[in-house]
Parts: sequence; structure tokens; C-alpha cells
Amino acid sequence: MFNTDTVARFNDLETPFYYYDLNLLKQTLQACYDASSKYNFHVHYAMKANFDPKVLAAIQSFGFGADSVSGNEVKAAIDNGFGAGKVVFAGVGKSDKEINYALDADIFCFNVESVQELGVINDLAKAKGKTAKVAIRINPNVDAHTHKFITTGLDENKFGVDIWQLPSVIEALRATTNIEFLGIHFHIGSQITDMEVFKTLCVKVNELDQWFNDQGFAINVLNVGGGLGVDYYRPDINAIPDFEAYFKIFAENLTVKEGQEVHFELGRALVAQCSSLISRVLFVKNGQHKNFLILDAGMTDLIRPMLYQAYHQIDNISSDHGPSNMDHGQKVMIKYDVVGPICESTDRFREDVLLPESVRGDIVAVRTAGAYGAVMISNYNLRDRVPSVYSVE
Ligand SMILES: *Cc1c(COP(=O)(O)O)cnc(C)c1O
Repeated sequence: MFNTDTVARFNDLETPFYYYDLNLLKQTLQACYDASSKYNFHVHYAMKANFDPKVLAAIQSFGFGADSVSGNEVKAAIDNGFGAGKVVFAGVGKSDKEINYALDADIFCFNVESVQELGVINDLAKAKGKTAKVAIRINPNVDAHTHKFITTGLDENKFGVDIWQLPSVIEALRATTNIEFLGIHFHIGSQITDMEVFKTLCVKVNELDQWFNDQGFAINVLNVGGGLGVDYYRPDINAIPDFEAYFKIFAENLTVKEGQEVHFELGRALVAQCSSLISRVLFVKNGQHKNFLILDAGMTDLIRPMLYQAYHQIDNISSDHGPSNMDHGQKVMIKYDVVGPICESTDRFREDVLLPESVRGDIVAVRTAGAYGAVMISNYNLRDRVPSVYSVE
């Protein structure tokens, strides 16, 4: 939560902005580091969740690698100090330009999502006289029990190679000349809170590891992706995800052979809780059936609720720290639709949010906004780009 000093600081600033609690970020990174290094697991940070330079600097300082999904992310990883030897590159649609860039940079591994892509990478590597290191992204048909818009590991999803296609992958691998096969890669979805899902994944990984081995392709890298969820409903109580429990599942359920490395790609779990979108109430509109709290932040600044029906806790932090809105010492609670200023009816953070009676000028925090928030900012309506504000260390 925000202490009185922080709220006083917010009062002096122009809104909206993303506020970063760098201390919480470091505690989260430390927890992940401690829990993963116990098993010698390799963690890559999924850059797409948040590429704020201070966030990247903090993550890089713990020695994590980077997981990129575009050529520019590969470049940003390297520019921000992640060694190329710790960069992996996934994505269903890598362009030739992006592949060439990553080849020139000598990244650790391409996570290849189709047989056709494997051929293209082989040809581009050959033209350069290089060898591309690859892992095959497999779609294991594991239901992540997460929102249908953010599941990626089912047969109906566009990501990875389906299991029935694996014989043709083997054939293609045998035919390639400039490919070094490192292993297999998975990423079954995001915001996964049901830990059983990861156990199911481990069973599939073990089976596929054995299958590749039987085909004469020994696996060095088992990359199980990311997807660990965070608690959007209780950001103050569960500020740091249970990394211990998460990594333990893999330690107990993966059959790791001598010399094999286990890799992870975590995004959301590392950065979601350290940031809130801070906004001011512009207007309060009392309708016949609804009360609207109109904020100066909208879907151009944080699109998750509008894009995939995501839940964010919304706090009126002025009322937590001031004498306003009190009726004989009791806060009057009112249900508001919390909306933005953008000219779209879907520009609504949440319906029926129970908040202390709010007034123009109050500061509102949309919590747990550190992942997939600032990275999706758009300038629709010619909006200003929302800046970052950092905690004072
Ligand atoms: C987005 C992504 C991740 C990170 O997912 P989180 O849910 O943020 O942990 C990992 N791997 C790949 C390939 C991704 O696309």
C-alpha cells in the first residue's frame, strides 16, 4: 500500500503515471533468485511484460537471462546488459530481418515454432556461415485453466508445433545443415494459478524428452516457459508470488537427466505487483442507475481490462489518507463504474467498484499494473505517453 509520504508526493505530480516500487521489485527478484538457484534452474525474464529501463536494470543485476519475442526485444535485452548468451527468442512470426539480427548477435537459442521456420533459420544461418542454436516449441495440448484469451498451449492455439507433427520435425532436423538442436520449449499460457497445471506439463515434458531421445536426438535444454500467476485480488497480502512452491513442482516432477539444463521464462510473476497506474478523478457523474468515476487514465494507458477482461484492484488512496468523505467518522461507500476519458464505451476499468465516496481531484491507484500495462500504451486520441515515477530508495 502507499504511505502518507508517497501519497503526498503523488499529490504534487501530474497524472496519470506508472509508479514503480523498486524495493518490492528487488524483493520479488531476490525471492525468485533464491528459489530457482536452489535447483540450478535458469530463469529468463520475458521482456514483453515490462521493458522500463529501471526494471530491466534491476532484473539484469540478478543475473537472469532474457526471453524476447521480437528482434527489437533481442536488441533491447542486449543493450540493457543481458548477455547475448542468455537471450532466447520465441514468436510464431519471426521475420527474416529479425532472424538475421539474432544470428548476428549470437543469441543463446531460437525457440522455433514450426517446421517451415526451422528451414528458414537453417537457410539464413547457412548464408552467413553460422550455426543457429534452436529449441523446438511444442504445443503440449495442456489446458492452463486460465482465461481463454491468454491460453497458448492447446491444439487450437497458433503457438508451437503440435505433437502429431513431431515426426516431421525430426525429419527436418535430420536434413538441416546449420542448426544445433538444443532441446524442447513450452509455454502454455499466462496468469496460471492452478499449480496442478504445471505438474501436467512436467509429465508431458518427460514423455517428449524420452521420445526425442528415442529418435536419436539427445536433449540438453528443457525450457518450460513461464505463466506463473499473481494475486490481482490481494496485492497487499500476496505481493510476492510463491516461487518456492512453483520451482519445487518442477524439481519434483521433471525427470532431469545428467547434463540437462532446465530453463524458465517468467514475465508477469516478476513485475506485476511492483507497479500501479496512478490517476486522478476528473469528474464524478451520477447517473440514474450508475455512478461514474471518470479518471484521467484510460485504455490507452492500461488496456488489460478492456482487452481480456482482466481484474485490477482499484483504490482511492486520497480517501485512505485524508479526512474527506467522512460521515460521522464513517466512510460512505458508493459503487462506481470506474472509466477512462477515451472515446470508446469499452474504456472502463471495472464496473460496480465499491469505493469511499470520491471527489474530483482524488487520487486513484489501479493496482498490479506492472505486467502487460505500460508496454501496451498507445497514443489513440493523441494521448500523451504515460511516464514512469519510481520509489525513492
Ligand atoms: C509471454 C511469454 C512468457 C511469459 O509469460 P508470463 O505469463 O508473463 O510469465 C514466456 N514465454 C513466452 C514464449 C512468452 O511468449
